[in-house]
Order: sequence, then structure tokens, then C-alpha cells
Amino acid sequence: MAVLVFGSLNLDLVTYANKLPTMGQTVIGEKLLRFPGGKGFNQAIAAKRSGAEVVMIGCLGGDSDGDFLFDILKSEKIEAKFITRSSVQTGIAVIDVAQSGENRIVIIPGANNELVFSDEILSNNPGANVALAQLEVPLVEVEKFIIKCKAAGKITILNPAPIQILSEQLLKNTDYLIANETEGSFLAGQQAEQLSKDEAIAIAKQLQKTGASKVIITLGANGSIYLDQSKQIYTPAFKVNAVDTTAAGDSFCGAFATAISEGIDIEAALKFASAAGAITATRAGAVPSLPSKQEILSMIASVE
Ligand code: ADP
Repeated sequence: MAVLVFGSLNLDLVTYANKLPTMGQTVIGEKLLRFPGGKGFNQAIAAKRSGAEVVMIGCLGGDSDGDFLFDILKSEKIEAKFITRSSVQTGIAVIDVAQSGENRIVIIPGANNELVFSDEILSNNPGANVALAQLEVPLVEVEKFIIKCKAAGKITILNPAPIQILSEQLLKNTDYLIANETEGSFLAGQQAEQLSKDEAIAIAKQLQKTGASKVIITLGANGSIYLDQSKQIYTPAFKVNAVDTTAAGDSFCGAFATAISEGIDIEAALKFASAAGAITATRAGAVPSLPSKQEILSMIASVE
């Protein structure tokens, strides 16, 4: 059993300064750190650390940034044979962070825009039972990945981030659609940054009509709702001291894919994913904050 993750890999360049420069201004910063990032990469690491075998499908540049990210994939023990290298530069996110926590981000997709689906991904991974994708790589390739994986009998999971308009065909081939409040609202033709439980359920019902058979809407510190044809589940968030919620959604998606790959029931899978998201919220950064399976199980045990 393994999880196929089709998505972006970025080098996050994070600058830290007292305050952000205003337009045309120069400020002296404190330090610059380099982290692996991109929703695809984050979710692949989240799935791997939470216990799944993971095959990452992505595209890096043929540059030293690409080498840096490739080495991290290897050290995380993620299968990298479907990582292609392009003459276009590796994807980069430049993130400026002020002491107040305010930030601004410029993303250069670079090689992520060169990612293409190939049938070899399926013929080479017959044992993979779950396919997970996000939207930081070309939508048309995500569609091919999800549709072909579904046809090959895999369980398909789509995290529609960053949000875009999705085709009916993509939604119909998605087994689990995992959206946060803004993404869920957008797909339902609305605009909201926060949703009550009832509003989230109404949105999930609307999304089901567009083709997604099982819908999860994550509600940050308010937990998540799940809806399929026969049941509705509310999973409360674990109570934690949140310091940085960056990558909480990625952590949730990766851990959920692991749980589904292991065949555990939906309520337990949602709890497992919620525990992963909560732990991530207690730590700074994206990849450094993604928990191991043991940490997730301890968090669950601590409230039972
Ligand atoms: P995204 O990062 O995509 O916006 P959310 O913020 O909804 O996603 O977080 C995903 C999941 O992570 C939530 O459904 C919840 O289970 C968990 N989570 C996020 N923030 C917190 C928090 N402050 N406390 C506890 N759990 C959290």
C-alpha cells in the first residue's frame, strides 16, 4: 500500500526582519533560512511521516535548489523516481516575515509548471492505493492524474488549493474533496473566510451536487465536517496552544491519505488527520512542524 502524491515542490526562502520594508524602502534583516515547501512536498512529507509509503510525482529544475530539494526527498525516504528535472528553475517562494508575524510572499512556480502526467506512473506503482493532489501544478495534468488513478481503482483525494474553478469531470473522479473554509465557499459560488458548522454542511451538500462524492471542509481551530451520501460527521479540533498554523491543512491532508491507505474507518481517519493538523499548529514553520505517526497516536491517546 502506498500513496501517490502529485504536486509542487518549492524552495522557501524566508527572510526575517524587524519590520517589512514599505514600497521602495530597504530594511536590514536578521537572517535568511531555506526550507523545503510547496503543498505537494508538504503533503508528501506529512503522509510519509504519518506512516505511509509515498511516491512523489513532481518537477524540479536542474539547478542547485533542485538538488537541495531532491536530497531532502531522499532523506525523508520518499520514492523520487518520478521526480523529473527541467531546464526551468526550481519553484521558489520568497517569504518576508516581520517580528509582528506579518508576512508577504512571492511565489515563482518555475519547474512546477512543467509537471506532466505519464501513464508510467500507474504502470510502475500497481501497489499504490491512494492518489493525492493539490493545485499548485498545471490543472490539466492534475485532471489526468485524478481521472486515470480513479480509473485504475485508486482512491482519489483532491485538496483544491490554491483555489481555482474545477471541471465537473475532475470533481466526479474525486473520492474525497478536502477544502478549507475559503476554498469550500469559493467552489460553492460564495465568498466567506469563516464558516459555522451548519454553513459548512450546507456548502458540502452543494459540492456533492457538483460531483464530489465525499466532502471534507476543514474549519481551523473549529475542527472539520465530513459529508458522504449516507452520513455526516463533525470532528472537533484537538485543543492545543497554537503558535503557527502554517501547513496545518497540508498536515491534515497527508495524514488523512495515510489513514485511508491503511483502510481505517472514516471516523478514525478524520481523528488521525485532525491530530496531525493540531500538532502542526503548535510548532513554527511548515515541514519542521509535520508530525510522526507516533506523535499523532500520542495526541489521540492523550484525550481518550
Ligand atoms: P488550512 O491550513 O488549509 O487553512 P485549516 O486551518 O482548516 O486548513 O486546518 C486544517 C485542520 O488542522 C483543521 O480542520 C484542524 O483539525 C487542524 N487545526 C488547524 N488549526 C488548528 C488549531 N488552531 N488548533 C487545533 N487544530 C487545528
